[in-house]
Amino acid sequence: MKAQVEVKFSQLVQQQRQFFSTGNTKDISFRIAQLQLLKQAILENKQAIANAVKADLKKPDFEIYLTELYVVKEIDYTIKHIKSWAKAKKVATPLEQFPSSAIIYPEPLGVVLIISPWNYPFNLMILPLIGAIAAGNCAILKPSEISLHTSKVLADIFQKNFDPAYIALVEGGVETSQQLLKEKFDRIFFTGGTNVGKIVMEAAAKHLTPVTLELGGKSPCIVDADTQIEIAARRIAWGKFINAGQTCIAPDYLLVNHNIKKDLLDAIKKCIQEFYGDDPAKSPDYTRIINKKHFSRLAAFLKDGEIIVGGETDAENNYIAPTVIDNVSLDAPIMQEEIFGPILPVITYNDLTEAISIVNDRPKPLALYFFSKNKDRQERILRETSSGGVCINDTIMHIGIPELPFGGVGDSGIGAYHGKTSFDTFSHQKSVLKNSFLVDMKLRYAPYQGKLNLLKRILGLK
Ligand code: NAD
Repeated sequence: MKAQVEVKFSQLVQQQRQFFSTGNTKDISFRIAQLQLLKQAILENKQAIANAVKADLKKPDFEIYLTELYVVKEIDYTIKHIKSWAKAKKVATPLEQFPSSAIIYPEPLGVVLIISPWNYPFNLMILPLIGAIAAGNCAILKPSEISLHTSKVLADIFQKNFDPAYIALVEGGVETSQQLLKEKFDRIFFTGGTNVGKIVMEAAAKHLTPVTLELGGKSPCIVDADTQIEIAARRIAWGKFINAGQTCIAPDYLLVNHNIKKDLLDAIKKCIQEFYGDDPAKSPDYTRIINKKHFSRLAAFLKDGEIIVGGETDAENNYIAPTVIDNVSLDAPIMQEEIFGPILPVITYNDLTEAISIVNDRPKPLALYFFSKNKDRQERILRETSSGGVCINDTIMHIGIPELPFGGVGDSGIGAYHGKTSFDTFSHQKSVLKNSFLVDMKLRYAPYQGKLNLLKRILGLK
């Protein structure tokens, strides 16, 4: 059975290589037509997609549009800019290279593999695919087996609309992923956890395949005393509890200045009540935990520290209330791994140096949030910490700007995408020098006798 699957995947890759070698995907009008087809397929299936995401995560419609179906906007943005991104770009040449010219040609990589996670199961498959299509690649897609309903709808969309020799979606679990990873690709784009990211990179290394790893981590949210407490609280509560905290860039833990701690926590409590009512279990706007395994992992964190908001659970419905936990020790289990759920631990600091060192003692996060009106402190945070991205006085919203590359640094990932960065991620920038036969300076050719002084002068080494 395993051997059969391997043959199947190597045949699929082979078919895609043949399709790629026809050169069709190099044509910009072909890429635009495929992006339009993708958009059309999403629009025609938007209800089925929404139903599937709802079945997987009980996500409210508003969030399905905001965080999943919005990808059609990225398609429009890409179609608008693709011609200028794909254009060969002339660069300056030094005088001694006269009369040659130098040009960068973006070219597609070939056949790429995209592996996606379950937390935004539609968006995180389609968003990288937009870049892969725009850059002129063939692609094999492997959605998460955990968000099964969305995986099925995605499979249906691709089977009906795309030739598998061009874009193929392969459903399956870890085993399928592992079998696919044995094949040689021209790029692997992986979104998921840091540990699996290491497995993907190891498999890719065997073929010297470049990887983009969109990973996770503990994204801190630091709140300075000089802030607008009410707005800060609202933006933090929204960023943390949207999708029930199952967001790679959710504020993972709160670092709050001791002077405003009480006021901020009171304000966050009020926001949770405003968003989800007295009993969030009854709110139509609150998502559930994806499965029992993650429910149990998260429920175990509720033993750490002192619960000041929420804490209620319902195992049968994979429900964990929006929860805030105070007096959490830095050694507690909840501070050892990415939470990826609706639990916000609170740590108090006395001065910013202390907060910065707590952040810098941990692996570099995917996002960092800092709330402060003080410009010097904002600059200090930017200078003294490293993270994939930063929002000053907000959470999450940086991913909504296509001009900002989205990706991690250190343990939170390798490479980036969104907007033009997606196009670049799936392209090779081919450097080309074009010379003519008009002039042929003899300086570079042997014999070198009598030429060294002139060379030194050109190089500025005399
Ligand atoms: P995961 O790493 O468990 O799974 C992701 C994908 O990898 C799935 O398709 C799965 O089938 C496959 N996979 C799992 N184990 C594998 C193995 N041993 N070998 C090969 N493939 C394997 O991640 P998840 O639980 O689906 O998602 C949660 C993680 O993803 C969190 O850490 C989160 O921060 C991260 N994430 C990151 C981003 C980002 O953009 N940086 C976005 C969403 C989620």
